[in-house]
Amino acid sequence: MRVAIIGAGYAGMAAATELAARGIPVTVFEASRTLGGRARRVEAHGYPLDNGQHILVGAYAELLRLMRLVGANADTLLARKPLCLDFPGRMHLAAPRLPAPLHLAVALLTARGLPAGGRLAAVRFMRHLKRDGFRLERDITFAELMLRHGQHETVIRYLWAPLCLSALNTPLQEASAQVFLNVLRDSLAAAREASDLLLPKTDLSTLFPEPAERFVLRGGGEVLRGTSIHTVDWTPYGFHLEGDASGRSYTHVIAAVAPYHLRRLVAKLPRLQPVLDEVEQLSYEPILTAYLGYPQAVRLPGSMLGIGGTAHFLFQHVDNILAAVSSARGPHLDLPHETLVEHIHAKVVDIVGVAPRPDWSQVIVEKRATFACRPGMRRPACETPLANFFLCGDYVASDYPATLEAAVRSGVACARLIR
Ligand SMILES: Cc1cc2nc3c(=O)[nH]c(=O)nc-3n(C[C@H](O)[C@H](O)[C@H](O)COP(=O)(O)OP(=O)(O)OC[C@H]3O[C@@H](n4cnc5c(N)ncnc54)[C@H](O)[C@@H]3O)c2cc1C
Repeated sequence: MRVAIIGAGYAGMAAATELAARGIPVTVFEASRTLGGRARRVEAHGYPLDNGQHILVGAYAELLRLMRLVGANADTLLARKPLCLDFPGRMHLAAPRLPAPLHLAVALLTARGLPAGGRLAAVRFMRHLKRDGFRLERDITFAELMLRHGQHETVIRYLWAPLCLSALNTPLQEASAQVFLNVLRDSLAAAREASDLLLPKTDLSTLFPEPAERFVLRGGGEVLRGTSIHTVDWTPYGFHLEGDASGRSYTHVIAAVAPYHLRRLVAKLPRLQPVLDEVEQLSYEPILTAYLGYPQAVRLPGSMLGIGGTAHFLFQHVDNILAAVSSARGPHLDLPHETLVEHIHAKVVDIVGVAPRPDWSQVIVEKRATFACRPGMRRPACETPLANFFLCGDYVASDYPATLEAAVRSGVACARLIR
């Protein structure tokens, strides 16, 4: 048995880890020299930044398990904060250290800046969802869900909409209510720790893919960086990978590439046409991250603040670097980067009072950051019509939107199918 994994993003490295843990030899091929795919380190201005600021939540049980398995200490690599949504001067909601579901009820009922009737309606909404097991008979859009449950405009603006937009990265008029409810079920409505925010204290390649690589190597596997596979072919001796210098055959292949890279890879496997048809129904949404590097520390009053305008959230990346994130498409994408950085800096000054001008900025737009998560959308399964050829990645069928947790879960699912 020899397994080839094409792609060393979080999904591919999760599959490799799970197989290596069971003593199954794997060869991972990664086109880039940096591991992590859409969650990777990007060196700029002398700092290890990322291709985009990421946030994890306590509900990412599978990623946290795999980090432990490969020896990446989540307690030191992630800053764990109780759920807090803060729009300075406008809204503040914080979950107290109380057992679930009290933590959420108290957070909603004591939120500052939300009208009393709206807070009560939000509590009723969560109770209603719980009673129905967070299931909708028919998937609808987030906007319809809000209307159906009579949520107050201010509560939508400062609570539900930011949560939905950051989780699904899809404009709210188009976002799948069912997938949003799945996220609420496993985070806000689960154990208190599940709603904690986990902010990486290191870059995203160091967080998991690189320790996973070391784990795979220790288990006798290989991780071949800078090696792009052009196509996969099926021969009587097994799978043959064009681009693999070893010329070996593999009993199993896991394609762990982003969905928009699948077509060329499987061009010689006509049995995968129905899968490709499904994948090509997907459309994509961007994420913009603007890093602002200051000559000295600029301390935000919280590690994640809602700011609105051209960016949705502002993060304390490190002492002297702030990161502003805008999810999904929107007018912010049309602004010249200097204007965008000016707007964000003005917000920073509003919040902290006095701040020197940033020395440098780095704006990164990932045009196809995630698939657009719409009602009733179909996502391909891990298993394909071709025996021993599997798909993993954040777009593969799951309860979750395109996230790190969806990616690693699909990797683990593929590995278990092979086992
Ligand atoms: C800017 C941004 C912000 C985000 N924020 C969050 C967040 O806050 N929280 C969260 O949970 N998720 C977030 N996400 C989503 C998360 O990053 C993705 O869901 C996840 O990284 C997808 O992982 P993947 O392994 O499925 O795919 P990818 O990361 O795309 O991995 C695919 C890998 O395959 C490689 N590859 C492709 N073709 C070939 C080939 N032919 N041969 C060899 N290798 C190949 C690629 O180089 C890549 O490394 C964000 C995404 C972006 C872009």
